[in-house]
Amino acid sequence: MTQDDLNRVFQRAGIGERHGGSLLVRSPIDGAELARLHELPAAEIDAMVAKAQSAFRAWRLVPAPVRGELARLWGEELRAAKEDIGRIVSLEVGKITQEGLGEAQECVDICDFALGLSRQLYGRTIVSERTGHRMMEQYHPLGPVAVITAFNFPSAVFAWNAALALVCGDPVIFKPSEKAPLSGLATFRALERAIARFGDKAPAGLAQIAIGRADLAEALVAHPAVALVSATGSTRMGRAVGPKVAQRFGRRILELGGNNAMIVTPAADLDMALRAILFGAVATAGQRCTTLRRLIVHHSVKDRLLERLVRTYAALRIGDPLADGTLVGPLIDEAAFAAMQAALGSAQEQGGRLRAGGRRVLDEQYPKAWYVQPAIVDMPAQTAVVRHETFAPLLYVLAYDTLEEAIELHNDVPQGLSSCIFSNDMREVEIFLSAAGSDCGIANVNIGPNGAEIGGAFGGEKETGGDRESGSDAWKQYMRRSTNTVNYSRELPLAQGIQFG
Ligand code: NAD
Repeated sequence: MTQDDLNRVFQRAGIGERHGGSLLVRSPIDGAELARLHELPAAEIDAMVAKAQSAFRAWRLVPAPVRGELARLWGEELRAAKEDIGRIVSLEVGKITQEGLGEAQECVDICDFALGLSRQLYGRTIVSERTGHRMMEQYHPLGPVAVITAFNFPSAVFAWNAALALVCGDPVIFKPSEKAPLSGLATFRALERAIARFGDKAPAGLAQIAIGRADLAEALVAHPAVALVSATGSTRMGRAVGPKVAQRFGRRILELGGNNAMIVTPAADLDMALRAILFGAVATAGQRCTTLRRLIVHHSVKDRLLERLVRTYAALRIGDPLADGTLVGPLIDEAAFAAMQAALGSAQEQGGRLRAGGRRVLDEQYPKAWYVQPAIVDMPAQTAVVRHETFAPLLYVLAYDTLEEAIELHNDVPQGLSSCIFSNDMREVEIFLSAAGSDCGIANVNIGPNGAEIGGAFGGEKETGGDRESGSDAWKQYMRRSTNTVNYSRELPLAQGIQFG
């Protein structure tokens, strides 16, 4: 891609001016400088929140279906910008073209979802125990929502949160990952264009962006007027954010690290499992929160599956994510590479046998980028390193004898995001999905752990944070519930039959 092409992509995405600041953004593809963005001083956060509060007072009164029109317009802008946003995601995060486009499509999908949702913010009616009384629940807008994102879904996670927050009546303040602010900015610019088309009913300060590092996120987390903090990133970050939001009785959505597994039973379709393992373990170079990190395989099929997997890994096309046919792009940075190497070392110390990959490649062609062969390590047991999330394409393989043992291994990690089983045995499948089965927020059958659709609630248990976003009824977290009892009788009966005076 020439510099002129690059400039045109950014220009069309509304990021014409991207130099002169202090936040250096490099492409993991070749280490080239993409931008130097101006950073917002943390002292500005107070003013931003005040603006959001004032926007909230107006926006909450706009009828939800009218707010839905903004989601529709944003969806239109995103459709028009899909190629450019996908391209920026690829340039900035190193996703292959298909995955970059897929991320932009998720933004479109959540806008469509939010538009429909804007006419379905249903409360319940509840029968009253008292004559001439009616009870109901209403969902009202909550207040300013801060969205803090991770580098690996720099566009979609903002859209997931913002589309819902906006139709729920909440202004948004977006703090993109400092490792990938351009994709977020391009997605935000599409929202700004939609707001401009929406017209006067959209108050100033409805959507704001705070470009910078973790100190900005910390200021948002601590601010008492930020009603909901939706933070996506490492468990380390969640440990800092969770208690701070709790201390001021704010609401939070924490979407943190995963350690996702697949159980492959003797009743599995191995061809299908193989394809799912490949996409699960090496897509986004192993840098998805839902990346497949543990393969728990029955003894009777392990050798067969592992042999085929090793052969498939040897043929993987690693390289420029924008080139046709590439399946594995670069790691985000040197620290990610170092973490993978450290984990590989620990795994081997803990009895693991390296069966594939693990080495840096293309370093002569791209001395400032970090391409790595996806690795497979055959482990004798679920040791300490296996229980830890290493954010790289590193797949551990474990063997099991009974399904109970497999499920025990599966659940015996601190994280609880995504999981799956490959089996055509109905009993095995149902046990995996039952109360005694997978303890994750996502449990799939005959598909991999990654690549979730926006229609379902997304999130995980334990160290993954325990919250949900995106589809189903995740919208309820962006609203406050009000329980109303209406007395249309001429008496004043008290609940529980109490006689008072
Ligand atoms: P990270 O934790 O380093 O950073 C994420 C965001 O948190 C950034 O915007 C950063 O500025 C901010 N941040 C960092 N420290 C903070 C603090 N003390 N207070 C407030 N904000 C702070 O994560 P990353 O490296 O960008 O992303 C990778 C991690 O994110 C992986 O662990 C991955 O599993 C996880 N992730 C989870 C999900 C999910 O939905 N569960 C989705 C994507 C990524």
